[in-house]
Amino acid sequence: MGKILDYDEMNDILDSLNKNVIKKEKPIGYTYFGYPINHYVYGHGQYHVIITGGTHSAELISNVFVIRFMEKLSKREAEIDENLYTIHFIPIVNPEGTIIVTSAIRSLIPRDISLEEEQTYFLTYYRNSYIEGDYANKYGDRDLKLQQMMFKHATPLILDDKHKELKKYLIELFQKNDLPIGCMINWSSNGRGVDLNSNIESSSFIERVSNGEEIYANLHLNNIRRDKLGPLGCPYFKKGEIEKENIALLDFYKEIKNKYKYIGSFIYHSCGNIVYYLGEAEKKNPWINLTDEIKEKDHGVARIYSDVTDYKTDGFEIYTTMDSKLKSLFPVTLLIELGGVRATPLSQFMDFDIGGSSDFKNVYSRIIDDNTKAILVTLPVMREKYENDI
Ligand SMILES: [Zn+2]
Repeated sequence: MGKILDYDEMNDILDSLNKNVIKKEKPIGYTYFGYPINHYVYGHGQYHVIITGGTHSAELISNVFVIRFMEKLSKREAEIDENLYTIHFIPIVNPEGTIIVTSAIRSLIPRDISLEEEQTYFLTYYRNSYIEGDYANKYGDRDLKLQQMMFKHATPLILDDKHKELKKYLIELFQKNDLPIGCMINWSSNGRGVDLNSNIESSSFIERVSNGEEIYANLHLNNIRRDKLGPLGCPYFKKGEIEKENIALLDFYKEIKNKYKYIGSFIYHSCGNIVYYLGEAEKKNPWINLTDEIKEKDHGVARIYSDVTDYKTDGFEIYTTMDSKLKSLFPVTLLIELGGVRATPLSQFMDFDIGGSSDFKNVYSRIIDDNTKAILVTLPVMREKYENDI
């Protein structure tokens, strides 16, 4: 087995976890096409924490990290005091997107590949993306992209027939919006083609999109439009409509915060090696009164996480994303960008054992190991900050 996990493999691992350690609860909600947003719980302590992955499905390492972390807890390879903490896991926030992007991956990279051979795909994808990023800078062309052409046969037709409704919708969406060949590999949105993190009442894109502006993504993705339903960036299906995944997530956070001693959350994205926390902002926070005390508390927790991982901290916020709302309403929430190399979904799985401190050194292993450690070290600080607040 390689390092990549497709949607079914993820669920197989989740189903095989030790049920005495990690329990599957009822889903926090269902997507438009009827997929469950599954919820798992570790521990029974009074301090509650939420950990999520895969809001942007192309950021596949975030699902895989959360699932591998759960597996370590399940096998007692990582220790969190079960009598002190209750950890809620939502490892696949965006099931439809994860089905789309991992189906694209499986159109080229089989499950039973050797680790070595799998690595060559990751490197090729990474380099092709960089070449296209350079071309975009130099020539500004929105032509076919090398990294998308690797997945040129990944059309909606490759989706398994068990995903009938989703498949039918995507076939029509590709035609209607003339989506680029091979772009299923870049799928960050949900199945309807809405970017969950942009799907928020305060998104800066809403006005621009409803004014009919053409908005393109950057660099190697500059042939993808963010103003149309598609792989990434589109803020809404119908103006003002909030997607089911976001409603479920917000309701879930509220429930945990109202019922229990909620001390914080970790939201995983990729890439950048950055820990985002709620700090400075140019404009007024639309949801809370952002005081110096709150900023200092958020920064304090972010600093601990960044000390362990050696990631940068960044507190700047413009309040245009779902995650900025979660950071505002449910402190202390950290948004962590896994991996220092660009080109999701494949590059963060590169794992070359090379010397020095290059960005390419054991990208995958460092993500898994450093972030595992960082959660364990950060939890007591979250708890302490929570207690000092009361
Ligand atoms: Zn993201």
